[in-house]
Amino acid sequence: MDIDGLLVGVDPQRLERTVRALEGPRHPRTAPKALGEAEALVEAELTAAGLSVERQPFDSGGRTHHNVVGTLPGRRPDRPWLLVGAHFDTVTSTPGADDNASGIAVLLETARLFSRSQPERTVQFVGFNLEEPQDALGRYRVGSARFAKRARKEGRRYAGALVLEMVGYTDRRSGTQQVPPLVFKRVPDSGTFLAAVGDGRSRRLLREFEAATRKHVPELTLVPYRTWLRGWLLPLTRLSDNASFWDRRYPALMITDTAFLRNPHYHQITDSADTLDYEFMARVTRAVLASLAELAENR
Ligand SMILES: [Zn+2]
Repeated sequence: MDIDGLLVGVDPQRLERTVRALEGPRHPRTAPKALGEAEALVEAELTAAGLSVERQPFDSGGRTHHNVVGTLPGRRPDRPWLLVGAHFDTVTSTPGADDNASGIAVLLETARLFSRSQPERTVQFVGFNLEEPQDALGRYRVGSARFAKRARKEGRRYAGALVLEMVGYTDRRSGTQQVPPLVFKRVPDSGTFLAAVGDGRSRRLLREFEAATRKHVPELTLVPYRTWLRGWLLPLTRLSDNASFWDRRYPALMITDTAFLRNPHYHQITDSADTLDYEFMARVTRAVLASLAELAENR
């Protein structure tokens, strides 16, 4: 696979257009129409990329919702698969540009470019629904939990899932990046890096994501981080769909700008498209594409 040829196609303007198309609350209770439109946008774009697309239904809160799954069949579908995922819903009142229109934009751009290749492993591109808290009980990650449970029940094997959770916000000023007290690791103090977080089972996946990024996207600073016990020691690493895969014993990474550790607009009405860094998102897209290309062929 000509990886560097694949990466030149990444288009920051297209990333921005996708974020602006999604911008606005997308929640089943406060903005069900916009949530449905976001689902339709993901379905249309994955279909336009040439993937076979399925809306996978699940029930929650007395209603039926869907994850959207696009599949690129591999030359060796018997080998463990790969997955790239992002959630398209928001909390009740935020425009959800960084959280998580940014993740969906990178997902769709990755699908558009990667679907032209013929990888050895089958690759799925998934828009997850209902990641955010749904009710007073605080249920969240509903769509991905159902997806991972069903995959395990069907005996499906995954070599890795890359979960895009807020990948568009940067701040160059020093002192803008917070680091949680339990992270004993040197982390840059300005918010311009990408973090990749894996659990113990995801050690190899994390190493390969890091190697592909350093080799093909040297202009992106990556901070890899491994957590233990499926993230229970550092609960903020369990706040997105990656934890649904960890809980079903699948290797998975959370790919993130570190959310509220950097972005003051997290879950606020100010999480708008104007606050994002689309050149950074293009670098993130190239890192995901390069990693997929390497992982799809490796032994
Ligand atoms: Zn989110």
